[in-house]
Amino acid sequence: MEHPENNKAYKGLTVNSGIEKPSSVNPYLNRSRSIKRELSVDDFVDGIVKENVTILSQAVTLVESVKPEHQSIAQEVIEKCLPYSGHSVRIGISGVPGAGKSTSIDVFGLHVLEKGGKLAVLAIDPSSERSKGSILGDKTRMEQLAVHPSSFIRPSPAAGSLGGVARKTRETIILCEAAGFDKIFVETVGVGQSETAVHSMVDFFLLIQLAGTGDELQGIKRGIMEMADGIIINKADGSNIDKAKLAATQFRNALHLFPAPESGWIPQVLTYSGFYNLGIKEIWGMIDEYMNFVKENGYFETRRNEQSKYWMYETINEHLRDSFYNNEKIKSMLPEKERQVLSADLTSFIAARNLLDAYFGELKRD
Ligand code: GDP
Repeated sequence: MEHPENNKAYKGLTVNSGIEKPSSVNPYLNRSRSIKRELSVDDFVDGIVKENVTILSQAVTLVESVKPEHQSIAQEVIEKCLPYSGHSVRIGISGVPGAGKSTSIDVFGLHVLEKGGKLAVLAIDPSSERSKGSILGDKTRMEQLAVHPSSFIRPSPAAGSLGGVARKTRETIILCEAAGFDKIFVETVGVGQSETAVHSMVDFFLLIQLAGTGDELQGIKRGIMEMADGIIINKADGSNIDKAKLAATQFRNALHLFPAPESGWIPQVLTYSGFYNLGIKEIWGMIDEYMNFVKENGYFETRRNEQSKYWMYETINEHLRDSFYNNEKIKSMLPEKERQVLSADLTSFIAARNLLDAYFGELKRD
């Protein structure tokens, strides 16, 4: 057989001198990073107000960052965005895992976007730090919304205490509103404290429940039910319809036992199916009705003002706590004091007093 490549005149397999091998570090990547870092406060604000979602995302990343230099830019951006914020309907959506939050948010979201406007879906998930990666606000859980051009989905900020995580979500609401998002959903898992945090930043608190064994009311923390402006029983489809209706009756009866809410609004209980898209219009009808009701009787303003006050105190508390626990002297004293309390060499009160005295002593010296 003839092998043309063995012929000396054959040039096919020789390596031509070509261009230099590029560096394994992508130079463009570096450049885009430094561009991001160079955005000024005004660039951020300008981008956000012009509804640039990429810049909005970058600003939210700064809000979530624990680095002091990021925080100081973030705080300035938030302050400058404040005049553009506030014009939205903020809805908290809560339910235990498996209640159907993501399925429901997907269909609720598409429903509200049918009439136009823009929707941001945020989340508060105090467990996300432990599980390294949030399960709430995850785009893959809201398939249709995730690809909708008018939606912005952001998972729960991961770092810090529940108060810290919640404050970041509240600040993100401000940025989203300034970027033209007129509907905000805040998702949380229905297990307790995080509801209080969500309740303190939304206009309407929606609790998703399931019909189950008939004794479902027992499993629900009273405090969560008292916060709800609407309770919706999901999975009212197929053979589950009657059970869902029965659960709705039980919830309505239970709600009668609570004191009348400050808003004057009687929380409603509805059944629906997120999966089969049944009863969604009625849920929005309820929320619209509530908004008209509280705007007319002035409670809408009262609640937002109360929330602002709450967040002022929350922010003060958080900063004081951080300042205390990040103090070098305190950091060095804590393990020993903790040991002394555990071994009953010191009472908790005296140990706390010693630490606080040391902290305030340090402050005076500064
Ligand atoms: P989440 O954990 O609260 O976000 O709940 P998911 O939205 O992930 O739903 C949990 C499971 O319940 C999934 O398997 C859904 O397909 C199912 N599911 C959600 N909504 C409905 C519904 O309306 N009817 C029925 N039959 N199943 C549903």
